Amino acid sequence: MLIRNGIIIAIGTTTDVENQASENAEIIDLENKMVMPGIHDVHLHPLEAASDNFLFVLNTEETNPENYASDIEQAVTQNPNSEWILGWGFDIYTLFDATREPIEILDDISTTKPIAVMEQTSHSIWVNSKALELAGIDENSENPIGGIIMKDDNGMPNGILIDNAGNLIIDLAIASIPNNEQNDYDGLVNFALPELAKNGITSVCDARTYWKRNHHQTWQRVEDEGKLTVRANLGLWLYPTENDATQISTIQSLYSNDANSFLKINQIKLYADGIIINTTSAMEDDYLIDLFNLPTNNGLNYVSQSRISQYISALEPIGFDFHIHTIGNRGVNEALNAIEQSSNGNGRHRLTHVEYVLPSDYSRFSQLNVTADAQVAGDFTQPANWHETDFLIGSALNNANVPIKNLVDANARLTLSSDWDVSELNPFIGMQNAVTRAPQNISLNEA
Ligand SMILES: [Zn+2]
Repeated sequence: MLIRNGIIIAIGTTTDVENQASENAEIIDLENKMVMPGIHDVHLHPLEAASDNFLFVLNTEETNPENYASDIEQAVTQNPNSEWILGWGFDIYTLFDATREPIEILDDISTTKPIAVMEQTSHSIWVNSKALELAGIDENSENPIGGIIMKDDNGMPNGILIDNAGNLIIDLAIASIPNNEQNDYDGLVNFALPELAKNGITSVCDARTYWKRNHHQTWQRVEDEGKLTVRANLGLWLYPTENDATQISTIQSLYSNDANSFLKINQIKLYADGIIINTTSAMEDDYLIDLFNLPTNNGLNYVSQSRISQYISALEPIGFDFHIHTIGNRGVNEALNAIEQSSNGNGRHRLTHVEYVLPSDYSRFSQLNVTADAQVAGDFTQPANWHETDFLIGSALNNANVPIKNLVDANARLTLSSDWDVSELNPFIGMQNAVTRAPQNISLNEA
């Protein structure tokens, strides 16, 4: 490979390339290693994937909820100095199968130490009564925006907090960990950045920068110390329950877009909706089962169409690009509507996940100059597994899960990303799946 003034001008055999090189060309011997273009991964969670704030991880294959107790009990015993016992890894349908209320399983372990366990998907939290007490949640609490406080037949919280209802708990638990920011830093420097380098990834978008946990400052510290080995664009998290005016002014003050820095704080990450498996992604039609007995059963909105529109109006002129989590077809539709209403159409915004898209919306991505960002590395996006959620939404919609072919056919600008560590980081897994996942596959060149 011959490079002149930073541009590749020839590729060929050693002799071919040497013949075209000037006499004083610098020769770099790769010693049989490969050089390849840097990969841009536009949706992943490097800081969260690497941060070590959980005290325990449950067996993800467990089918009896009572069997979760021993690992949690052990964490309580082994961490007497931890203010909160925070862990990860339950399956929500395993908890739904419990013969008693989920809160009782945790209260049997402790009623004096707050316990919080994050679901495998991160879209719900399982807590004991002490955790609820510290968070100020009781039988009189209303569901927060974008969240559900599940209750038993007597109207008492049953220990499962869906989507945004659980986020408050996690914020409390993490704030109680004295070295949580150092944990984030250590994980980023010692684990995440080397993993990115190993996988050929040179630019990333952090898809959920929790500014209330100072994630942006941790990234800044890594950049200031000269340890940032990727170009990083941070997607500041938009808190659904925050006052809009206050949040807009805080986010404005965090904007940075220095051409000489590897770190840019120039994106907003927000959730339009939740996820299919918890019946919280926003759908056009009702779910086939009703888990929550709410007035509507077509999913929930973290941030409604009108608020997305309002935030775009306020923050796009500053230079922020929007990165919007949309899984259900109603969520996709509403986010496109908000962009149509408020954006200047310069093509900087993207919808991510896009698992279900109304056929009438396929062409709107190119019309509105919006990027469709899809992840197809995870097993759950493979055709063999599409129909696992038929019991929730029927089989017809699951014939076109993550419809990358339909989107490309409608001239959408499509990106593939990893969503690490929800799915594998290695970008070639997603590229391979994109080519092979017929009928929603694309060509090798497109991938
Ligand atoms: Zn993600």
